[in-house]
Amino acid sequence: MPRLPMPPGPADHASGADPAATGPDRRAELLAQVRDFAAVRRAIGAAAAADLTRAAAERLAGALPLARVVAVGQDVIRVSCGGAPDKVEHVSAAVRSFFDPAHERCDEAARHGWAVGGAIAAPEVDDVTLAETSEAALAQAIAVPDVAPVAAALVAEADLASELDRALAEDEMELFYQPKLHVRQQVIKSAEALIRWRHPTRGLIPPADFIPLAEERRRVGPLTLWTVRRAIQDQRRLRRLGHDVRIFINISGQVLADAAFAEAVCHYVAAAPDARLGFEITETAVIRDPEGAIANLQRFDSIGITVSIDDYGAGLSSLAYLKQLPARELKIDKLFITGITSSHRDPLIVRSTIDLAHALDMEVVAEGVETHAALALLSVMGCDMVQGYVLSRPVELETLAGFLAEERHHRASADTRASFTRLSATWKRA
Ligand code: C2E
Ligand code: CA
Ligand code: CA
Repeated sequence: MPRLPMPPGPADHASGADPAATGPDRRAELLAQVRDFAAVRRAIGAAAAADLTRAAAERLAGALPLARVVAVGQDVIRVSCGGAPDKVEHVSAAVRSFFDPAHERCDEAARHGWAVGGAIAAPEVDDVTLAETSEAALAQAIAVPDVAPVAAALVAEADLASELDRALAEDEMELFYQPKLHVRQQVIKSAEALIRWRHPTRGLIPPADFIPLAEERRRVGPLTLWTVRRAIQDQRRLRRLGHDVRIFINISGQVLADAAFAEAVCHYVAAAPDARLGFEITETAVIRDPEGAIANLQRFDSIGITVSIDDYGAGLSSLAYLKQLPARELKIDKLFITGITSSHRDPLIVRSTIDLAHALDMEVVAEGVETHAALALLSVMGCDMVQGYVLSRPVELETLAGFLAEERHHRASADTRASFTRLSATWKRA
């Protein structure tokens, strides 16, 4: 039976692992799945097939004593481990070769055809994210048999940081767009740009995995200016297709009060008089340097950029304080919206926020609207705009253009009307 090399101990780098590959501990989860279990069963018989995964898991556990190996159901094996980066990388490579029939140390089960997907995570990544990322990597390995079998979707921060500059230079960033629907007018008036990093080997990386890092490494300035330029270009493409929507960009606290950033934005907007932009800012971003932030916001407002207060309610916001800002839009944090139809407290908070914002002459956007019932309730409460999965997830520009061309929001609205009827019936009964 082929044996895999033991994972190196903390001081053992003799296996060829890079001695410099230390740093904060990592966790890895790897999933291996028989590609076509039904075909294997037909080939080797039901009894042998039933034993295949369990026996392979036992052999793998014997080869990797420091990892946890479990057979899940009839055709999946899950391997988890934690520790120094080189140890985790080693386990991940060992699992790959175990199931790779082309590898000299592969297991006898490898000939039945397995897909392997996995994720390696920094310590701050939670278990659910790690599990979901490795499941996504497995799904990708099943869908595209030729991809590298382990997609380390969550990577060491140090690796990512060194790659950020290259990513910007080589245009690996992309903007996805999520429409905002004006409830009363039933039109899509604007869309929010949400950044994604299409990494050449690691797939699509969400902003939560690299924006904090970009902030730490002071790379948010170039990143945000790239976003502004790309949003202006994308808006032109949409306009050529007959769609005129304002594009909102998220502005990190690190650049909000920065005079050089404001100067560059003014320069881009002056060069693109047709641009219709909005900036989403959070109160925490303002609090870092209120004077500098307010000066910049006034400048943005004066050149036609709509200022929107994002994540309202998630912090210690006071509307009286926010009134000092030239903001025209208030986005209620999804924390209050996702449970609006099930909680007693959230609808009261949302209702009073809408009324207060209207009294201050601001339009209200509810973000994180996931159900028709929530949309119906927000519409009754007088919420001006909604954004969320019920209408559309964040999508690529082409998909947004298709959504706008087909006026797909009308379809969602029809379902909402049905919900609305049920909702009013409930109220009448109450
Ligand atoms: P955010 O500005 O609060 O964006 C809303 C987040 O909620 C997005 O996550 C969006 O995909 C997600 N979302 C949208 N609809 C729903 C829904 O119905 N239900 C739920 N549960 N979630 C929904 P995403 O795209 O992962 O962005 C996360 C955060 O990353 C954003 O939060 C924003 O703070 C930041 N971000 C995104 N793009 C940029 C950027 O270009 N620059 C900067 N500085 N930050 C960005
Ligand atoms: Ca936002
Ligand atoms: Ca938000």
